[in-house]
Amino acid sequence: MSMWERRLGVWGTILRSTAGIAIVLLVTAVARMGLVVNATTVGFAFLIVVLGLATAWGLHEAVAASLVAVLCFNFFFLPPLGRFTIADPENWVALCAFLATALVASHLSNRAKMQAVEARERQQETERLYSFSRSILLTDTAQPVGQQAARFIAQAFDCPAVALYDAAEGEVYRGGAGDLPTIDDRLKQVALDGVRSSDASRLLMVLPITLGGRPIGSVAMLGLSCSDGAMEALVNLVAIALERARSAEIASKAEAARQSEEFKSTLLDAIAHEFKTPLTSIKAASTSILSEPDRVAPDVREFTEIIDEETDRLTLLVNEAVRMSQIEAGKVLVEKQAQHVPSFLAHVLSTFQSRLEGRAATVEAADDLPAVLFDPDLIALAVRQLIDNALKYSPPESPLRLTAAVVDGAMEIRVIDQGKGIPEKEREKVFQVYYRRNTSKGTVPGTGLGLHIAREILKAHGGSLHIEGASGAGAEFCLRLPLEGVRI
Ligand code: ATP
Ligand code: MG
Repeated sequence: MSMWERRLGVWGTILRSTAGIAIVLLVTAVARMGLVVNATTVGFAFLIVVLGLATAWGLHEAVAASLVAVLCFNFFFLPPLGRFTIADPENWVALCAFLATALVASHLSNRAKMQAVEARERQQETERLYSFSRSILLTDTAQPVGQQAARFIAQAFDCPAVALYDAAEGEVYRGGAGDLPTIDDRLKQVALDGVRSSDASRLLMVLPITLGGRPIGSVAMLGLSCSDGAMEALVNLVAIALERARSAEIASKAEAARQSEEFKSTLLDAIAHEFKTPLTSIKAASTSILSEPDRVAPDVREFTEIIDEETDRLTLLVNEAVRMSQIEAGKVLVEKQAQHVPSFLAHVLSTFQSRLEGRAATVEAADDLPAVLFDPDLIALAVRQLIDNALKYSPPESPLRLTAAVVDGAMEIRVIDQGKGIPEKEREKVFQVYYRRNTSKGTVPGTGLGLHIAREILKAHGGSLHIEGASGAGAEFCLRLPLEGVRI
């Protein structure tokens, strides 16, 4: 309630009390004129007036009237008449009973009235909250939700001015016909502290908007008259609306990103398809020439062999590019087969033959290792990323080791080089998409995708990929594949 309302209320009570007293005096006058002679009847008449006043106006008015009624009753109707004394003790009892009845009945009727007023107010608040929540549910995604919420609050709660601060956007939105021109700093402060503030008359309220205890904004409302509970509910609804809009935005961005990845992967599929036809023709031609070695001169055969090998490499690269883009788009399709790890590693290493010259590259594994179920194409792709890195990031003559062993119920494959290695603090970062160490940028070609894709492949197999080894020594990548109990 505002100061004006309170001041008006005090004058109203005084005026109504005076009117109440006047009614009591009127009843007294009528009775004295001889229309009513019996004191009991007069007493009941006073009681009815007091009850009527309590029901119509309130407790204060009824108390004022009942006190005057007691005085009149005593003075005019209880012997000795015309004096404020009472001769008969029985009349004392009657007077006290009258006063007590008047006060208790006034109090009860006033309480019932207050409860009715409160119930009406609650109902009105509930209706306003309902209309606000309905508007909030129907927000237009094309406009900022904060702006719409400020407008809806002003409409539903008849607020002359509303200002809403959305911390995530850093914007203040306004609603209502009036304005709160100097409120911005206060809104930001309340959003920061998470503590409500109001002016002395509670005419302007500034409340924090919190979600899970975390302030996400604040709202200032001028001339809002509602209970603390309703205000709390209102602010919670605004918080939910802001958060809902934020999650919807994130979801639509993620969906857009997913669609773009899918589009990329489809495009790559199409390009790969286009590549495959000429590659198959070249391969067919080179195979046919090489199948009859006597038909061509030795130098032509040598060139044909190069063409044949490079066609194989190109085909492998095209297939890999397609698989990698599929993994990027979250479409990893794992087709597991039982594999003998040492021979599998030897085969993968052999595909690097031309780049291994002058380097000792070995596969170290016991021959009786159990077979493991995995997708040979995908795991070969992952291991190839690690071998490719080892060849790129360690000196050309330094050795490269591939090891395989069963450790803690999983097949552990390690790719170990003797380059500069990767410092501890970057051992997780290098698995992020497009992350490349500063030392590699500009000196070694690459996109920063290899390790990310390799880890995704291992994850799709229920395994893991991480970096081990002492810091300062060469890189040691450890792939772990779960053993699924197949033996060849
Ligand atoms: P891409 O593999 O996509 O062609 P890339 O090799 O740069 O490019 P990743 O394989 O993801 O990308 O490697 C990320 C970064 O981690 C590399 O840029 C490099 O700085 C570092 N790195 C990876 N392997 C090694 C290694 N064996 N030794 C030293 N640094 C490495
Ligand atoms: Mg790489």
